[in-house]
Order: sequence, then structure tokens, then C-alpha cells
Amino acid sequence: MLQYGTTRRTLLQAGICLCGCLAAGRAAGSAGLAEVAPGVFVRRGPDEDASSANANGIANIGCIIGDDAVLVTDPGGSLADGQWLRTEIRRRTERPIRHVVVSHVHPDHCFGTGAFLDDAPEILGHHRLGAALAARGDYYQRQLTELLGDAAAGPVVPPTRPVGEEETVLDLGGRRIRLAAYATAHSDCDLVMLDEGSGLLFPADLLFVGRAPSLDGSLSGWLTALDRLRASGAVRAVPGHGPATVELDQAIGPLERYLTILQDETRSALAAGRTMEEAIATVATAERDHWALFDDYHGRNVTQAYKELEWE
Ligand SMILES: [Zn+2]
Repeated sequence: MLQYGTTRRTLLQAGICLCGCLAAGRAAGSAGLAEVAPGVFVRRGPDEDASSANANGIANIGCIIGDDAVLVTDPGGSLADGQWLRTEIRRRTERPIRHVVVSHVHPDHCFGTGAFLDDAPEILGHHRLGAALAARGDYYQRQLTELLGDAAAGPVVPPTRPVGEEETVLDLGGRRIRLAAYATAHSDCDLVMLDEGSGLLFPADLLFVGRAPSLDGSLSGWLTALDRLRASGAVRAVPGHGPATVELDQAIGPLERYLTILQDETRSALAAGRTMEEAIATVATAERDHWALFDDYHGRNVTQAYKELEWE
């Protein structure tokens, strides 16, 4: 299977959250773009890895339509995925696409941006997204091109409007959007968005539901970020992976449990003098039945946790 071959392993080793990939919207198990609240459309990404069949369309992506403008988040996992999303948006509205929000650096969330360049939107991302794309973008692009071909992979597009520590507020016309840059957690550039109109929170990959999380930032930081998501007061959320919308508090529970067990059992393994390989074989294995794609991501999560916690 292609996704278990060298390409995918090297992507993972490089820190890519190849949070599964199917040709956007066309993937098996994907229901297309659904209106989850008035003016809010989400495509649920399937619980799969990147493949030529899914064009890396594996993350939850979509748009918010205001009276004056359209905001896209995330733009998709490849140029092909972004083009699919843009076509679906244009079937619903002709209003200008003025904002593309890129939640973080992982390719299944950011490589669709190229499909929106002709709309000349501002491209918003965490203030560290530009540096993260500069460090990894070319490598991600080569791997995507190997998987999908030149025409489908898409360019690396840096943000034009970095979101700093101060909250950024956008007005789509009768609809305000608030953006906040989080401290290092799932990645080092996680951006969280709230649509005031619907009350929906968009925590992107700070929230995985049913699909194994991938840790590419800080384990302790992610647990802190979950507290901050709860403190937002939002009731419903669009996770980065999983159902199109979930009850926020209910959805945080299993992820918090997984990350806490990962932290506790990695600390125990370190205290017992176990090697990293022994830790990978033993830490949090009771979680296996709770998560799709567990064996594809868990070992790397243990590796990350081990490196982070061994210097405590
Ligand atoms: Zn991610």
C-alpha cells in the first residue's frame, strides 16, 4: 500500500502530519461539503492516509460565507483538493473569497491554498507559520508531488497576514471571525478560529476525534491548549479530523485521556530506565482500540513524548 511505503514514512519522520489523504471530497466515506450551521460549510475528511486516490483530501476543510465575503479554512491538502473546495464554494455563492485561513503547517491543511490565488485573498496564519513553511514546505511539496504528480500537488504559499499574540478580528459582512495564535501544542503554529455568527470553534488539529492524534509540537503544551479551548466557552466545534462538528467538551475528553496516558506512561518508562524502543512497544497501548490509524501515528507520538520528557 502506497501510504505505508517509503513516502509516508519519510513524511512522518520529517514531522508531517499526513493526517490521511483522499482526493478531496471524492474520497470514500466523504459526504462532500455540508452546511453545518447557517453559512458554514465543512467537508469531513476521511480517516485515511495521503494517497493518490484521495489527493491528500483527508482533513476537515470548508468555508464561512458572510454578507460581503467568503472565508476559507482550511484550503485543503493539495492543489487538487483546494480546487475541489473552490468549485464547491462557487456552486453556493459568487461573493468574493477574501480570506484563506491556514490552521497550521501540516500539508493536509495547507497545500490547497494555491487554488485560491486568483481570488487574491489575504492568507492568514499563525505568526510562526511562515517560518515553518520556509523550513518544511519544499520537502512537503516534493513528497506530495511524488505521490500526486506535479499538477495536483500545489505550491508552497506563505501567509500574507500573520496572526500574533493579539486576537485578530475579521468582518465578513454581518459576521465576525476571531483568530488566536496558540502556544506550541499539536504543532508550533496552531491557529484557532471562532465564528461569532454560529458560535462554532475551529481548533483544527488541536482536536482529533476518532482518528489517532499526531504530536508534532509539545505534549504538555497540547494539554494546556485543551484547557484554553475549554475556556473559550464554545459549545460546538469543527475538529481537524473526525466528524464535521462535535460537542467540544465531549470531544476533548478522549483526546485529553490519550495525551495524559501518553505523558504518564512515558514518564514511567523513563523512570524505569526503558529505552525509546521499549517505550514505543509498551506506552499507552491500551488506547489502540479507541483510535483509527493508531499504529500509523502512535509510535511517533511516543518518540516525541520520550524526547520531550526525558529532560524534565
Ligand atoms: Zn496537523
